[in-house]
Amino acid sequence: MQITDKFTLAYAQSLDEKDELKYCRDKFYIPYIGDKEAVYFLGNSLGLQPKKAQDEVLNVMENWANFGVEGFFMGEDPWMEYHKTLSPILSEIIGAKPEEIVTMNHLTVNLHLMMISFYNPTAKKYKIICEAKAFPSDQYAFQSQVKMHGYDVKDAIVEVQPKPGTELITTEDILLAIEENKDSIALVLFSGVNYYTGQVFDMAAITKAAHKANAYAGFDLAHAAGNIELKLHKWDVDFACWCNYKYLNSGPGAIAGAYINEKHFNNKDLNRLEGWWGNDETNRFKMEPTFTPSPSAEAWQMSTAPMMLLAAHKTSLEIFKEVGFKKLLTKSKELSAYLFYVLEEINNPKKFDILTPTNADERGCQVSISVNENAKTVFDALIKKGIFADWREPNVIRVAAVPLYNTFEDIFYFANVLQELFQEK
Ligand SMILES: *Cc1c(COP(=O)(O)O)cnc(C)c1O
Repeated sequence: MQITDKFTLAYAQSLDEKDELKYCRDKFYIPYIGDKEAVYFLGNSLGLQPKKAQDEVLNVMENWANFGVEGFFMGEDPWMEYHKTLSPILSEIIGAKPEEIVTMNHLTVNLHLMMISFYNPTAKKYKIICEAKAFPSDQYAFQSQVKMHGYDVKDAIVEVQPKPGTELITTEDILLAIEENKDSIALVLFSGVNYYTGQVFDMAAITKAAHKANAYAGFDLAHAAGNIELKLHKWDVDFACWCNYKYLNSGPGAIAGAYINEKHFNNKDLNRLEGWWGNDETNRFKMEPTFTPSPSAEAWQMSTAPMMLLAAHKTSLEIFKEVGFKKLLTKSKELSAYLFYVLEEINNPKKFDILTPTNADERGCQVSISVNENAKTVFDALIKKGIFADWREPNVIRVAAVPLYNTFEDIFYFANVLQELFQEK
């Protein structure tokens, strides 16, 4: 095996030295394994806790203690106004107007709510086109919606498959599936980034093709939000939803987000499940019997906002605002380029395949590898070496080097450990 000068601790450390965002790591609690900080490559699963989050949650608790229900109007950050600082920050991350974003519920719940609005099947147009091997929760949501409307799951859900012998789905095949089913599709619903392979889908092209087929286009951005550049409004996407506990570091079971294109705020063709928190705030508390929708995505919000969850979410978003999302994306590309580089360095003779696209525009920071032999043994050894990675059956290890708290040294260390583990076999 050839060792070049870039696959060295000194080189990795020199990249960290030059990194203008290296100060960000200190804003997070880094978990320990044994007596040393872990290499935490699970930001795609549960982002780390911002150090300020506990104080922010405590502030809400204190306002509750001090003001009771008047906390909605009193204190430094009255709860009635609290969510208003979130949408402008998310606006940059999601690529949408602030009024097109609503922070509410949880991801799968929002997926259902969005489908109540954007999946209105008719005898002629009733199909959903999605990726093969979508995240299970999404598959369950699609299936239950289809059944609720009285359609047959096998007929109504069209999954676009990867090319035989690969794990990636080409844009060409997606567009072809839309074209072939254009008379019968109601909805095209993909993830922005596939959770298993880390592949980024061409959301602009998919949306355009869906609209040409007279169907709505929606995206599940669980693995995209906070990870890649998004331009939902510009791409004319109809709706999207995402969770905030992965790349957006807002805690386990964090409050989630949804985007609804402004052109649908007054779209009378849409169904919507409504509740009092979606009523226009100017007359919400007049408690009138008819619903006046908020002139924004907030019309989809049904219930009182959960303040403790919002507090954790806000803390994290403020970090994104302070650091600047563009800078994070740049560092993310550098980290993943280095990760690809070192993985290739140690993969001779070949021990694994990289499932994630090599083209930097078609991936975020996650890299998935399928290990040829003793995959589970290799994975189990990683944790003993202080590395948190993620296991997917049958033989896939996923790692995400996130720009807020991962370092080039983390990547070097991971590759070095992996190389040793392969040599032991
Ligand atoms: C993480 C993830 C979910 C999880 O949904 P919750 O409702 O937040 O539990 C759903 N879909 C995708 C694509 C995910 O990556």
